[in-house]
Amino acid sequence: MSTTDFVSPIWDISFSLFEHIRIQDLPNTEYTDFDMEMYKMVLAEAAKLAEETLAPLNAAGDREGCHWKDGRVHTPKGYKQAYKKYVEGGWQGLSIEAEHGGGGLPKPMALAVVELFTGACASFIMYPGLTVAVANLITSMGSPWVRATLLPKLISGQWAGTMCLTEPQAGSAVGDVRTTARRKGDHYLIEGNKIFISSGDHDLTENILHVMLARLPDAPPGIKGLSLFLVPKVWINEDGSLAEPNDVHCTGIEHKMGLNGSSTCTLSIGDNGGAKAWLIGNEGEGILRMFSLMNEARIGVGVQSYAVASAAYHAALSYARERIQGTRISEFKNAEAERIPIIEHPDVKRMLLHCRSQVSAMRALGLSLGKFADLHVAHQGSPEGQRYMDYLEVLTPICKSWSSDQCFEVASWALQIFGGYGYIGEYPAEQYVRDSKVFSIYEGTNGIQALDLIGRKMSQHGGRSFMATMELLNSSINKLGEVEEFASEHKALAQARDRLGSAAMKMMGLGMAKKVDAAAAHACNLLNLLGDVVMAVMLADQALIARDALAQLAAQAGIDLGDSESRSSWLEEHGKARFYISKLDDLRYFCHQFLPRTAALEMMISSADSSVLDCSF
Ligand SMILES: Cc1cc2nc3c(=O)[nH]c(=O)nc-3n(C[C@H](O)[C@H](O)[C@H](O)COP(=O)(O)OP(=O)(O)OC[C@H]3O[C@@H](n4cnc5c(N)ncnc54)[C@H](O)[C@@H]3O)c2cc1C
Repeated sequence: MSTTDFVSPIWDISFSLFEHIRIQDLPNTEYTDFDMEMYKMVLAEAAKLAEETLAPLNAAGDREGCHWKDGRVHTPKGYKQAYKKYVEGGWQGLSIEAEHGGGGLPKPMALAVVELFTGACASFIMYPGLTVAVANLITSMGSPWVRATLLPKLISGQWAGTMCLTEPQAGSAVGDVRTTARRKGDHYLIEGNKIFISSGDHDLTENILHVMLARLPDAPPGIKGLSLFLVPKVWINEDGSLAEPNDVHCTGIEHKMGLNGSSTCTLSIGDNGGAKAWLIGNEGEGILRMFSLMNEARIGVGVQSYAVASAAYHAALSYARERIQGTRISEFKNAEAERIPIIEHPDVKRMLLHCRSQVSAMRALGLSLGKFADLHVAHQGSPEGQRYMDYLEVLTPICKSWSSDQCFEVASWALQIFGGYGYIGEYPAEQYVRDSKVFSIYEGTNGIQALDLIGRKMSQHGGRSFMATMELLNSSINKLGEVEEFASEHKALAQARDRLGSAAMKMMGLGMAKKVDAAAAHACNLLNLLGDVVMAVMLADQALIARDALAQLAAQAGIDLGDSESRSSWLEEHGKARFYISKLDDLRYFCHQFLPRTAALEMMISSADSSVLDCSF
């Protein structure tokens, strides 16, 4: 393996799926046909496709980018062949419910597979990724004809899907969308302009279904006046066959900082009389409907984040093992001293451990959200089912925002580990930094996510969702407190939790005093503080499991873990035991070297300082 090769993080994914969140115990009746062997086989096959087919496209597609010619987008070389392989392998419909013709995999498994593909080539997976989100929307909201006729085309990968919200004047302010819709017989006609539409046009499929927000003439202003439409690139006959091209045209693509293999398109809609469309749901329900798609897409951005962060970390790890530079610090005056790999320098170890612990925590949260989504379905209609939805509501902005911010940071640390070689195009580090920046921008910027957290998620249902989430976190923190070995980590985590509690109270106080600007100025700080505690809890849960598993392995091998000599020679031979120990190290690092920032965050939130509000530019 070279330092430019993509590494599928199968060990950590398997640990998270089978030992941490235990998907094999999910009660959803539709999963009874699956077993561990099948899950492992799916992961192995996904890793194969990721490493052999998708990873080789990553750097090449980045350099080449997409081409826009004669109103059509052409994807980089190799994308078409890879897409064919992807759909022929049946990967497209994997997470769609079996009753709708999909593979029906548990959500955490589907997220794990998406992670592998994204880590290998984040640009490529943007095309099929959005299609799955559109297919899921149709399964729950499409008319019987739409479900019967259009869904199979999306599941098979024959057609693709997009999400069209953004317009030049309507980015974060979705309510300012100006694209119009008017009724025409049994369908609607759409006119307007959309920008920044991922996969808005490409050459991978024969048709593209645009899910689009637009406004009817008699609709009220703002988000309440929006309706959601399905606008096909090529109109579709009653029997599902393709009719004439629809009045929706790609008028250009953006030249971007990263994700260059993914087309980001400007769409002109209705220049020749109106693009034909179907309504999704009822008139005026656009934002409500779009939210369900966006929530799924936000978890998807969290997955993108740790997928790219993991790829960056593994590249840096591999480089750090090979790159020889300098001597041990204790021998720096000895010109004859042995030259060592940089992984032995404490500062490089610090950066690597930072990256690894962050990636593990983000992955654990992403997969846990997949599990909560499945448990919500399994217990639908009961208070238990509602509780899982409460967790999802509060933790989705954390998964999206905390992960995307930290992904950019991890990618930047990974680049730092490469030194000057990280900054040049020969190694993948700089691409990971460029690719990952947009994760904090699209699907609602992280600033908007933070406002959603403090303005809606924390107070909704009289604070029930937030309190349920705090109870979930507390139960893990209490479990950590029961283990003497983790006493100092428990103390650090409990302190961080208390800081979160007091900062949340302060924010609620600002809300009740109607000091909304003051609260908004600290929204990101609060999101980060909550995220820090959530991620520490993820690592704590994993460390407790790893500790027991390690003890069991040692007992089976007759090893006394307290005897450092026999322990270290055993560990040298035993990769799985080393892996479990890495989980204990991740928790220790995170609690002692990262969580202390919660003290600063709480201080900033609780401070009487109003510089942000008072300042002028
Ligand atoms: C590569 C790429 C792919 C994309 N794909 C899609 C897609 O497929 N479909 C789609 O519809 N859109 C897509 N987008 C658009 C993306 O969702 C928007 O760029 C994003 O929502 C931000 O909107 P904006 O760019 O207009 O920034 P603005 O809304 O102008 O925001 C600029 C800054 O101001 C802040 N800000 C704005 N309003 C507020 C507020 N009320 N309170 C606090 N801060 C605020 C923002 O957080 C941000 O920091 C894509 C964008 C990119 C770059």
